[in-house]
Amino acid sequence: MYDVLKVRRDFPILEREVNGRRLIYLDSAATSQKPRRVLRTLTEYYERHNANIHRGVHRLAEEATGLYEEARRKVARFIGAPDARGLVFTRGTTEGINLVAHAWARKFLREGDEVVLTVSEHHSNLVPWQLAARDTGARLRFVPIREDGTLDMEAAERIIGPRTRLVGCVHASNVLGTVNPVGRLAELAHESGALMLVDGAQSAPHLPVDVNALGCDFFAASGHKMLGPTGVGFLWARPELLEEMDPFLGGGEMIREVHLERSTWNEIPHKFEAGTMNIAQAIGLGAAVDYLNTLGMENVREHERRLGEYARRRLSEIEGLTVYGPAEGRTGVVAFNVPGVHPHDLSQLLDQEGIAIRSGHHCCQPLMRHLRVVATARASLYLYNTEEEVDALVGAISRAREFFGAPA
Ligand code: PMP
Repeated sequence: MYDVLKVRRDFPILEREVNGRRLIYLDSAATSQKPRRVLRTLTEYYERHNANIHRGVHRLAEEATGLYEEARRKVARFIGAPDARGLVFTRGTTEGINLVAHAWARKFLREGDEVVLTVSEHHSNLVPWQLAARDTGARLRFVPIREDGTLDMEAAERIIGPRTRLVGCVHASNVLGTVNPVGRLAELAHESGALMLVDGAQSAPHLPVDVNALGCDFFAASGHKMLGPTGVGFLWARPELLEEMDPFLGGGEMIREVHLERSTWNEIPHKFEAGTMNIAQAIGLGAAVDYLNTLGMENVREHERRLGEYARRRLSEIEGLTVYGPAEGRTGVVAFNVPGVHPHDLSQLLDQEGIAIRSGHHCCQPLMRHLRVVATARASLYLYNTEEEVDALVGAISRAREFFGAPA
């Protein structure tokens, strides 16, 4: 039985007050809060083991290297990747996707090739491909979404074809709360001889993920959204792909031999980890994964699915309020608009009651255009949120509506 009140006790920040009220943190899609286990791991690392990795032969260097490589194996196992050589630490999802858009796309994309994305991508899975298309002459194509926010798979079947080299799709939308059928997209991609890239920023923290079961070739995510520290994330890729890709950043650690005019590359994944990495953060991410495993990702998913559906239902009861995305099977991300109240004003008013939500375009401007809005409010729930917090949100929105004189 999932005990959310027990889980909450592991997160010291949830005890703090904002504007004289107990904090209600509903912005975990932007970044999650951190459990004591992660905070303790960071402190302990700096107090006892801090050293640069892979280079020194002294005791601390060996300990730090061991902890870092153990974190790599933990994260790989967490996403069902048997071979940790496919797991590259990055700064986050954005860097992971940029890595593919440089190291793979610049080497393999040609004029006339197509990269297929969806209209609901985060800017981090759009802009790197715009730049790669500009540099290679490849063309971008987009799968639309249906009225309820789900992907139009019939259109996907038409669009993905012999010219497609890569299909890129957000696994769980940071606006709509949809979980996209990336496994089916991977099948379509592979039938056309293309590769499949999954933006897992909003799935790895919330759903059980198995990259082999999904059949994807690239999977990128951010540590800070899954209880880990900022500054670290990961890109998983099939090891054969990493072998044949060019390096991304050049510098120390990623080389085997350096001459004045040319160099050879270190073995994977080190070929993609140039310079001093975010060592403490990676080890902290390993601790976050341990914590998530203790709770069980199936339990986390079930808690959030129920809470997300509850939030959607309760919010829909507010007169005139529009909730985006499907009613069922959603994640804990709920974007909405209250007529007559700008989302920024709403967030500010909610902040006065200690409630943290997000407002804006959520780095999804094309999706906003598709929804014909400039911005939305967004409550995003995680494993530490409760129905009582959703009720408090609903109450505060109703008061905000009255404050702004919204039509009753
Ligand atoms: N993709 C999605 C779906 C996201 O929600 C985010 C973060 N908002 C990103 C990518 C980018 O993540 P990061 O900023 O950690 O690189």
